[in-house]
Amino acid sequence: MRRPLLALLLACVVSHVSATVDPADESAPSRHILQQDGRQLEVLISPQFPAGMRENLLQWVDYIAAALRQVYGHWPAQSWQISIEPTAASASDPIPWAQVHREDLDRVEFFTTVQASPEELQRAWTSYHELAHLLIPYRGWGDAWFSEGLASYYQNILQARVGLLSEQQMWQKLYDGFERGRRDTRFEGQALHSVSDDLRKNGGFMRVYWSGAWYFLAADTRLRQQSGGKLSLDKALEKLSLCCAGQRLSVPEIVTQLDSMNRVLLFHRLYEEVAASTTVPPFDAIFASMGIDIIDGKVHLQEAGPGAALRRQIVVGPASRQASAR
Ligand SMILES: [Zn+2]
Repeated sequence: MRRPLLALLLACVVSHVSATVDPADESAPSRHILQQDGRQLEVLISPQFPAGMRENLLQWVDYIAAALRQVYGHWPAQSWQISIEPTAASASDPIPWAQVHREDLDRVEFFTTVQASPEELQRAWTSYHELAHLLIPYRGWGDAWFSEGLASYYQNILQARVGLLSEQQMWQKLYDGFERGRRDTRFEGQALHSVSDDLRKNGGFMRVYWSGAWYFLAADTRLRQQSGGKLSLDKALEKLSLCCAGQRLSVPEIVTQLDSMNRVLLFHRLYEEVAASTTVPPFDAIFASMGIDIIDGKVHLQEAGPGAALRRQIVVGPASRQASAR
C-alpha cells in the first residue's frame, strides 16, 4: 500500500516532521505524513474540501495528535491513520460524526464541516474521544462498555492536559457524565454486559458509556492510591501498548494482560464486577478519596491532602516532559 517514494522520504526523518505527498490523481485524497518519536501518522484529506481548508485540518490534526501523545509520551501505535471527509451537516458542531476502524492499521475517520477554523475543531470533544479509543489494542467488537468507557474517561483527561479544560472543569465534566449515567434508569436491574451488547437497539448510551468510564476512574485511582502515585492507568496502559499494540485483543484478554504486566489483581476482577453491575456504580467515595467535594451538583477541589496531590497528577500526566520537547 505504501509508495516507494514515501518510504524514501520517511527514511531520513527522525523527529517531528511533516511531509505532504500530492496525489497524481486530483480525485484522490491528499496524503500527509507526520513523524514523531520514530512513529508515523498518515493523514488522508478528501479532495472535496475547499481550497485553503487543508491547512486548517492539518493544524488541527497536529494539535490532537499531540494531545494523544500526552498519555505515553508517544503515539500508541508505530503507524496509524486519520482520514477526513467533509459533511454538509449543521455548522454548530464542527465534527458531527467520527469513527474508529480497526483494520491492518488503526484508522480514525472524521467527518468535519467544510469551513471550520483550527480553533473550532480543536475545541470539539469528539476528536479526543475517538483518539482515546486507540489507547488499547482492542479488536473492535464485544464489551463496548469497556472501550467507550476508556474513551469517555480519557477524552476529558486529554482536554485538560492540553489546557482546553481546567482541572476543575475536567472533574465537573466527569461528575456530570456519571450523573447522566446514573439518571438513565431505563435498564436498572439489567447487567451492564447485556445492556452493552444491545446498545445499538436499546440506546442505553449513558448507562453504558459512564459505567465504563467508572471502571477506568476506579482502576486509575486504586492504582495511584495503592502505590502512592508510582502506578497509574497511563503507565499500565502504556505497558500493554508496548507489548501488544499490533495485536487485536478481546477485552478479557486485555484485562488479563494488564493484571499480569502490572503485577496487580485489579483489572480482571473489576471487569467482572462492572460487567455484572446493574446500575452505574457509586462514585461519591472515589471523588471524596481524591479530595473532591460535591456541593449542590458542583465540583470543589480540595487544595491540600494526599488525595489532592494524587488527583493533580492525573491532569499533569506522565508525558508533559516530552511535550515540552516538541
Ligand atoms: Zn467511542
